[in-house]
Amino acid sequence: MSENIYALRSWMYAHKDSTGKVTDEFLNGAEIFMYQAGQTPLTKETGKMFCPCRKCKNTKFAASDTVWKHIVNRGFTPHYYIWFNHGEGDNRNEASGSNHVENVRNRDEPHLPSESVIQENHMLDHDRMHDMVTDAFRETTSVIEEVENVEGPNLDAKRFYEMLAAANEPIYEGCREGLSKLSLAARMMNIKTDHNLPEVCMDAWAELFKEYLPEDNLCAESYYEIQKLVHSLGLPSEMIDVCIDNCMIYWGKDAELLECKFCKKPRYKPQGRGRNRVPYQRMWYLPIKDRLKRLYQSEKTAASMRWHAEHDQKEGEINHPSDAKAWKHLNNVYPDFASNPRNVYLGLCTDGFSPFGMSGRQYSLWPVFLTPYNLPPEMCMEKELLFMSILIPGPKHPKRSLDVFLQPLIEELKELWSTGVQTYDCSTRTNFTMRAVLLWTISDFPAYGMLSGWTTHGRLSCPYCMGSTDAFQLKHGRKTSWFDCHRRFLPINHPYRRNKKHFRSKRIVRDTAPPYLSGEEIEKDIDYYGGQSTVVKGGNWHNPPNMPNGYGTQHNWHKKSIFWELPYWKDLLLRHNLDVMHIEKNFFDNIMNTLLNVPGKTKDNKNSRLDLPALCSRIELHIMNDGRIPVPIFRLSAQAKAALFKWVASDVKFSDGYVSNLSRCVDHQGQKFSGMKSHDCHVFMQRLLPFALAELVPKEVHEALAGNK
Ligand SMILES: [Zn+2]
Ligand SMILES: [Zn+2]
Ligand SMILES: [Zn+2]
Repeated sequence: MSENIYALRSWMYAHKDSTGKVTDEFLNGAEIFMYQAGQTPLTKETGKMFCPCRKCKNTKFAASDTVWKHIVNRGFTPHYYIWFNHGEGDNRNEASGSNHVENVRNRDEPHLPSESVIQENHMLDHDRMHDMVTDAFRETTSVIEEVENVEGPNLDAKRFYEMLAAANEPIYEGCREGLSKLSLAARMMNIKTDHNLPEVCMDAWAELFKEYLPEDNLCAESYYEIQKLVHSLGLPSEMIDVCIDNCMIYWGKDAELLECKFCKKPRYKPQGRGRNRVPYQRMWYLPIKDRLKRLYQSEKTAASMRWHAEHDQKEGEINHPSDAKAWKHLNNVYPDFASNPRNVYLGLCTDGFSPFGMSGRQYSLWPVFLTPYNLPPEMCMEKELLFMSILIPGPKHPKRSLDVFLQPLIEELKELWSTGVQTYDCSTRTNFTMRAVLLWTISDFPAYGMLSGWTTHGRLSCPYCMGSTDAFQLKHGRKTSWFDCHRRFLPINHPYRRNKKHFRSKRIVRDTAPPYLSGEEIEKDIDYYGGQSTVVKGGNWHNPPNMPNGYGTQHNWHKKSIFWELPYWKDLLLRHNLDVMHIEKNFFDNIMNTLLNVPGKTKDNKNSRLDLPALCSRIELHIMNDGRIPVPIFRLSAQAKAALFKWVASDVKFSDGYVSNLSRCVDHQGQKFSGMKSHDCHVFMQRLLPFALAELVPKEVHEALAGNK
């Protein structure tokens, strides 16, 4: 590979074509730039970055969307090949996350798995190197111990010994302790990725080291050798070509196809031959088997993997998923699986994120994460124990083609359930067959639809009420409303059921909740309505003309989700979960915008007042005969608003890092909160709302919002 950074980033100065149109090459590159710049702590914290456009020349600090507009309109300031002001070119490793996208797009770029300890720490001392090697090869060593006397070391074992030597042996006689061939290789690899150095440059450096260090030093002689050494520690990952329209992936029995079997579009771009062919689109798959095995190969996690079965549950409390009903139910249905506490319980979560913020071009990336729940609560949530398994590329939203991308993962999960995989447990020094189960998915409400196959918009969105929903249309608001549709889930004697005043006026609810459907019944329903598999029909098949009969009126099944291929899926009690943080943010935004009466955002608008008389007995809120709209008791007065903003902006203090600076979110001019992240909203709802409004609104409003009585 002879390309250097100038060639790699030549797009930066291919701004417009001869007709003056901004080139696709430029836009694609600029998106990568925006993504990478967005990863720097500075931008994450402030939402702003230095603008590298032709005019600002990295002197102006501006909001990301502004920078995007500037770049697209003006192009980059000359000679800005290395993005010094956007995470590159310093050793604090700010841009390490960025190599992701670069790598997704550039097959030739060497890849270090993100979990790799190597990238994260420059200060690799001798012991850590040794640990790393023994962790990575734990299984091999156990095998070596067993077979050593019978036969010579096998290939894996040989590799292991080489690695161990590389980690342990001083790079030259008499050098400072901890300087080994492996530590040097890891450092060099790190520098390469941080600065995006070309391979020829790495070769030259390696030669230089070799030559200048004392004779007989063990320094790697070429970039190839460095790469081999470092990669043997890493975990496997795959790039899979994807149809440009997301119809299918070139994987499994379709791996060799040259055009999409659904839309017939070609797999590769016209330029490039043989091994250098470039596909239109790729996804990233990080197989989970080895990652799970590593949890047992590392001293840090191995013993804790049995925690779920060994901890004492406090009576009546749920501190961990294993304390809850769904988990216990699975164990009851599959006692064989439950009998080995080393089997792994997984959760899957996914969400799209647009690296370029809300405005600008629509672009979404969809990572899919897995969490092993075996570990105690504090470890379950650790970043390095939450692993990304799939990265679905942008710019297109995967929407109803999601299952296409999940195929390799589902295949692996099936195998992990039925046959399992030989694993060495370093806490007990034994081999065992590790199996794994996917307990559930976690997502926001739109992604719930993508995962479950039950469309989550329209009248039938509620996946529990399903066809027997009470949803209705608001005459003036012109939206579907689920107001007071769920009182029937209350116990039959609950006083709310008889309350005629506080819900829909004059309505007593005697109905019982719609029947709870077991997984088996749901699967039968899907088959009855004719829900189809995305993989069979293609990623773009699930659109209105192809929807099964009764879709949108009797049921909302747009597909039979790929998860039903898992043999145990029908036996799970809780297949799909909603992520509370997303919902909390929606609630927070709506509550605040309504209390502050933010124009266009408040839920208390003219249409809701027009709809209100038909639904509620709140005569005091009806629009008056002369057209005046009465002020509701929950709206904050000008003084109350000022007091709230002042309090949040200057008086509220949290310990560092607990929450982003809330004062930043106060928009005095617009008289609203802006730029609140989900976690900020969570903190506000949980920690501030219980008392924030105590003196600003009437007691009963405060109590309703505070959630305490
Ligand atoms: Zn600018
Ligand atoms: Zn296609
Ligand atoms: Zn419902």
